[in-house]
Amino acid sequence: MLDADFFRRWMTATAASVDREAERLTALDSPIGDADHGSNLQRGFRAVAATLEKEAPQTPGAVLMLAGRQLISTVGGASGPLYGTLLRRTGKALGDAAEVDAQGLADALRTGVDAVMQLGGAAPGDKTMIDALVPAVDALGESFAAARTAAEEGALATTPLQARKGRASYLGERSIGHQDPGATSSALLIAALAEAAG
Ligand code: ADP
Ligand code: MG
Ligand code: MG
Repeated sequence: MLDADFFRRWMTATAASVDREAERLTALDSPIGDADHGSNLQRGFRAVAATLEKEAPQTPGAVLMLAGRQLISTVGGASGPLYGTLLRRTGKALGDAAEVDAQGLADALRTGVDAVMQLGGAAPGDKTMIDALVPAVDALGESFAAARTAAEEGALATTPLQARKGRASYLGERSIGHQDPGATSSALLIAALAEAAG
């Protein structure tokens, strides 16, 4: 069973991984964006880690809702409201249970990913974070490790796609041949889940 402590570990592992990879995320956002994805998420997840430490929410749902609120209020770019919605809606779907099982998390995360698709209007294949998140959620029923692999493969598979949402879509065909920064950071988020579990 996964308790509040597991969800705090997930968020702090994400913050650490975003810190390590911030330069790479910003470099990916340079040719098809405005070169701020790494710094956006670094600011956001540092704030998430600090708030979780200070407020110590006691249920899985409360951890994710607080983290989501923090991302929305600290990240100015498109990714802030999108990741914020992902975590808030996933947290809300978890309810106020003290512990959830892996299937409960998979179902809640599906609700969160659906909310991101609704907010941003992106579908799979549009070269966004959705291209890592949807395969991850599909594989989560199997294992955290399978979800991690699916997210990483989904992020790599954005390279040949033409962006249809977000800033990269302004480039039209010139967005082809570059890996999407948001799909890459989503793969970090899912990898951190596997890390928190291991
Ligand atoms: P900004 O584009 O405002 O500078 P970021 O650089 O932080 O924001 O985030 C860019 C990432 O956000 C993209 O790589 C993409 O994965 C994701 N993104 C942008 N728009 C959308 C959308 N409508 N739906 C889903 N994801 C999106
Ligand atoms: Mg950007
Ligand atoms: Mg920006």
